[in-house]
Amino acid sequence: MPTSKAFEVEPLRKRNPKMVKGRKWILKQHFSGEPKIDDFELVEEELPELKNGEIMFRSLYISVDPYQKPFSASNPVPSTMIGSSVAVVEKSKHKGFPEGAGIVLYAGWVERGIVNPDEKLSFLGGTWKYPKIKGLSPSMMLGACGMPGLTAYFGLLRVCEPKSGETVVVSGAAGAVGSMVGQIAKIKGAKTIGFTGSDEKVKTLKDIGFDYAFNYKKISVEDALKESAPQGVDCYFDNVGGDMSTSVLQNMAQGGRVSVCGAISTYNGGKPSKCVDLLPLFLFTELKIEGFVVGRWEKEHEAGLRELARWINEGKLKAEETVVEGFENTPQAFLGLFDGSNTGKMVVKV
Ligand code: NDP
Repeated sequence: MPTSKAFEVEPLRKRNPKMVKGRKWILKQHFSGEPKIDDFELVEEELPELKNGEIMFRSLYISVDPYQKPFSASNPVPSTMIGSSVAVVEKSKHKGFPEGAGIVLYAGWVERGIVNPDEKLSFLGGTWKYPKIKGLSPSMMLGACGMPGLTAYFGLLRVCEPKSGETVVVSGAAGAVGSMVGQIAKIKGAKTIGFTGSDEKVKTLKDIGFDYAFNYKKISVEDALKESAPQGVDCYFDNVGGDMSTSVLQNMAQGGRVSVCGAISTYNGGKPSKCVDLLPLFLFTELKIEGFVVGRWEKEHEAGLRELARWINEGKLKAEETVVEGFENTPQAFLGLFDGSNTGKMVVKV
């Protein structure tokens, strides 16, 4: 794994006479099992003067995402917790990033900091000035029109390629990615079936247009699919892995397509699910299964974002969000991803 530039120790620079301070969250130790509050520490630092080519940013929203759990294992500790935020440029010595510009950057869980936008900040990415589009809020640049929305858009349309009248099943359906997948499938004329972890979220899924929604903690996936997909599942967009996916895979239709996006049920370790020999089944139903990482379509991200934004402005897509108030609550928000506290994109309002 490449190491991140942002985590290298920088030489001491001249102190800023105005003493601008910034806070950031440090990951003290690598996670062992479920993430814990004690794994993190909030630190405040005095920021140095800007050098040519640098900007000072202030985050408006911090993104907490499940990928931050497995990906943080490849960074040295202690170091700034990895991740992205949507921010405003407060001071600038970079012509391309003037004061007041809206940016998305992979500086980690940082409230206020200094970066050089021409440099890659971590293996996750750098700094990006997002287009101003009427009707979009900044937090959407982390959710519906950001990385999760693009994951749903490209992972569904390019891997599963759903056709009108087909049946699309989504696991983790009420989350940032899943809620978008179901709605995009609906725009394409598919029948949509979502699995999620509470009755309240089942109701939300029906409100945003899923044809069927089930609480996987209360029903068996097999029974739910007998009722909702008697002809089999044409497309399965998988966010969780484990036993739920094994059950869906045994109910695929001839020529079905499976998009393997995530495996959150496995991220905290624990008991591995039973291994079922599914390959003969794949043979006779001629299934296509493909894993992907959203960066594959990086060159097309802006085009995808614009189409998502258009659907939002036309009222065809609803951007569900769970907003946690206060930078100091970022770790709690992150932990909430693993106990199902969020509906739609979980963001922290700084
Ligand atoms: P979500 O917004 O869906 O948040 C996580 C949700 O996962 C929780 O709310 C919870 O919902 C569900 N969950 C948590 N633990 C479990 C479990 N043990 N079993 C089943 N469900 C669980 O996250 P995202 O939408 O951001 O991410 C969804 C998936 O997509 C993740 O696996 C992530 O790693 C992956 N991903 C992959 C990308 C790629 O490029 N391939 C890019 C972005 C994300 P509930 O109440 O329904 O259980």
